[in-house]
Amino acid sequence: MYRDGARKSIWQEEVRKFSAETDLSQIFDVAIVGGGITGVSTALKLQESGKKCIILEAANIGFGTTGGTTAHLNNFFDTTFNEAIRDFGLEKARLYAESGDDAIEMIEDRIHRYNISCDFTRKSAYLFALDEKQQEQLKNIVEGADKVGHEMSYVNETPFPIPFKEAVVIPGQGHFHPIKYIRGLCEAFIKLGGSVQENCLCEGHDEQKEYVVLKTSKGEIKAENVVYATHIPPGVNLLHFTNAPYRCYAMAFTLKNDRYPWALGYDLCEPYHYYRIQNIEGENLLIAGGEDHKTGHAEDTGECFSKLENYVREYFDVETVYYSWSSQYYEPVDGLPYIGKLPGSKERIFVATGFRGNGMIFGTLSSQILHDLIVTGESKYGNLFNPSRIKPIAGFSDFVKENATVAFDFVKDKIFKDKVESFSEIGEGEAKVIRYESESYALYKEIDGTLHLLRSTCPHAGCEVRWNSAELSWDCPCHGSRFNVNGKILTGPTTRNLQKVFPYQKHDP
Ligand SMILES: Cc1cc2nc3c(=O)[nH]c(=O)nc-3n(C[C@H](O)[C@H](O)[C@H](O)COP(=O)(O)OP(=O)(O)OC[C@H]3O[C@@H](n4cnc5c(N)ncnc54)[C@H](O)[C@@H]3O)c2cc1C
Repeated sequence: MYRDGARKSIWQEEVRKFSAETDLSQIFDVAIVGGGITGVSTALKLQESGKKCIILEAANIGFGTTGGTTAHLNNFFDTTFNEAIRDFGLEKARLYAESGDDAIEMIEDRIHRYNISCDFTRKSAYLFALDEKQQEQLKNIVEGADKVGHEMSYVNETPFPIPFKEAVVIPGQGHFHPIKYIRGLCEAFIKLGGSVQENCLCEGHDEQKEYVVLKTSKGEIKAENVVYATHIPPGVNLLHFTNAPYRCYAMAFTLKNDRYPWALGYDLCEPYHYYRIQNIEGENLLIAGGEDHKTGHAEDTGECFSKLENYVREYFDVETVYYSWSSQYYEPVDGLPYIGKLPGSKERIFVATGFRGNGMIFGTLSSQILHDLIVTGESKYGNLFNPSRIKPIAGFSDFVKENATVAFDFVKDKIFKDKVESFSEIGEGEAKVIRYESESYALYKEIDGTLHLLRSTCPHAGCEVRWNSAELSWDCPCHGSRFNVNGKILTGPTTRNLQKVFPYQKHDP
């Protein structure tokens, strides 16, 4: 299984190829674009109710963030219940709280129904405040939870070796192996007659009266409805201005003392650290995550791993680091995900995005919402998560801030570029955006001296890409498109590669 980064995540060995021969000239009921947890869950749900579905995945099942997640299943979210009450009112915040319970039950139900062996376990979660400021935050979180009827109780002890001022326990949470889970869903989908096309990039759509024509790398594919389960929809859409891309880092460690805290844990730092345990081939591993930043906004992404490792070593008796990887998520400007009809679509195209760090839950919930919208025309969550909502009160200042940053990127990148006279100024293993003979390039020099020279302008909206040394990728700070050193797309919303100049060999100028 491949992933959208150079580092191997803890889940990566667990997938096989799913593509099979399918007659692509038929008209499908629903084409689901994207083979992560959202796409696979939605495809299965629709296929279960008799729809003829096809999953179109640009790379392989699990290639996107689902292959780089940490797979906590928690029904309290990054946007707290008090924030939801403040911005959307108590009634909607209660519905928001209900959505988490619904999603975990759906996951459990599917695991039992299809007999999926994916290490699913119910666990308690602990939230801990490390200082007085975090204590205030925790109080606020607990107050909000109380108002929406969500169980959280103060405790004197946690299973984590991290000293705290105050902590709460939240029962009934869980974790699982996300790739084993979506593989099980995919197998069930295929058994029910569903089709999967991997290595099938969807480049655009034409929404007609009777159906949607998708332009893909395997030719045109027609479907009555389309779901963009691509984490962020491809092309240019309003949702690119209401969602901001972030990178997050995860590492998996063995511990010397074998005292693994078998629970979910979260501090309230900004950004927060989170913990869980996973057994891989008989070996217990502590997975820790954190060090989030806006995509393209860290000077040295490799350093994020050192910071995370040092932080974990302060509290845990670390033996060996087995895995370290990073991945991308999207922050919605008003804090809630966007699940429903794609803004700008007449009626046939749907989308699910803006999950923050809760995509196992919202990706799963999307399958129910999108199924209901496509099959019955309504969903109890339809209004709450409507992608066309504009909430100036709820997220207006964030909205302005995020978009101002985007605009700033456009300007600043045109100015701050290193000028080089010769490519020999670039060291082995180094990457840079450079100006050379009045053009700007993204240049990566391999250890053996081979140069990879690309135009540095992202084909999505014209921003300049930046080097991500952790995953050996060129990342666009504006909307999160990412490319490998050869310019090939790793992550949307772009549907075009970075323009390759030509391959330089070792002794070229
Ligand atoms: C480090 C990290 C840890 C996280 N931990 C948790 C956690 O503990 N719990 C939790 O609930 N959430 C967590 N999240 C969030 C969660 O992992 C994501 O929200 C979720 O995986 C998104 O799933 P998805 O199916 O929507 O998108 P993805 O998994 O990204 O799948 C989208 C797929 O669409 C494909 N695609 C994209 N564009 C096209 C196109 N044009 N044509 C065809 N295919 C296309 C991609 O190749 C990709 O495979 C975490 C996120 C990160 C970054």
